[in-house]
Amino acid sequence: MEVRPEGLYCRPGAFYIDPSRAVDRALITHGHADHARPGHRNVLATPETLAIMRVRYAERAGERLQPAVYGDPMTIGGVSVRFVPAGHVLGSAQIVLEYAGARVVVSGDYKRGDDPTCTPFEPVPCDVFVTEATFGLPVFRHPDPAGEIKRLLESMALFPERSHALGTYGLGKTQRVIALLRRAGYDRTIYLHGALVALCALYEQFGVPLGAVAPATGMKKADLARELVLAPPSAIADRWARRLADPVVAAASGWMRVRQRAKQGGVELPLIISDHADWNELLRTIDEVEASEVWVTHGREEALILAVELQGRVGRALNLLGYDEESGE
Ligand SMILES: [Zn+2]
Ligand SMILES: [Zn+2]
Repeated sequence: MEVRPEGLYCRPGAFYIDPSRAVDRALITHGHADHARPGHRNVLATPETLAIMRVRYAERAGERLQPAVYGDPMTIGGVSVRFVPAGHVLGSAQIVLEYAGARVVVSGDYKRGDDPTCTPFEPVPCDVFVTEATFGLPVFRHPDPAGEIKRLLESMALFPERSHALGTYGLGKTQRVIALLRRAGYDRTIYLHGALVALCALYEQFGVPLGAVAPATGMKKADLARELVLAPPSAIADRWARRLADPVVAAASGWMRVRQRAKQGGVELPLIISDHADWNELLRTIDEVEASEVWVTHGREEALILAVELQGRVGRALNLLGYDEESGE
């Protein structure tokens, strides 16, 4: 494996994993924009990830799209390749590579917490584990998401005359929050900013039920009072929420652990719901896969590498360019 300007490159297989520039052959871990870029010639990814790329990029999703079903082994240039669930968003995968007696697992983004909308993470023992470190600091410990959903429902009960505008990223967070609300018994229609509609429909096509959802577009202020409206965080910051009647502004993100971030975003009700592993999950996962080497791709590398080295493993920062820590969070 080597780090090239385009991204992480497997030389014997002549392919990149999640490259940040268009390449001849790309293996894609999941559909977030900083991992799945448009314009590659050959794309290998799970059927769900390919579908997400088609929704987002249309014909620019790639010239040739090849599906990789979880667990099915294949060989590329003598390298054995297998996609394994990562528990991050629908279709997210770790990519397991075996070559010359060594096994490398590129985990993409992952989490270990409960998520009704995607297949849970599966630890694969390996020699080298390539991990993200979005929340790679001991301060980041994510609470049980069910408790955060309960806080949202309590706020809605407390302020029944105000609409609630909840900032959720379009791929993964939106659908997970809806699924968690349904599990908590919330059965009213949930209204969606236009940017969230297509991916919610795609989740449903792949068998993830979201209950009654409807576009917020075209609804009157008065009709949205008392309702829950989901929108991308950027739209909420954009005062898109002004179309709502005196909304309670909420956001669901791992970053909501940082009070300052919530304040800057004008978030009155911060919910700590993350689709990335927290500090404990990162360490637990590294322990479970028993890797002697841990390579860190993006996020807070230093603290995680130090912790890994204290466990007697070799740690390495890959310094890959082009990952936006917040695009999927
Ligand atoms: Zn990422
Ligand atoms: Zn991601």
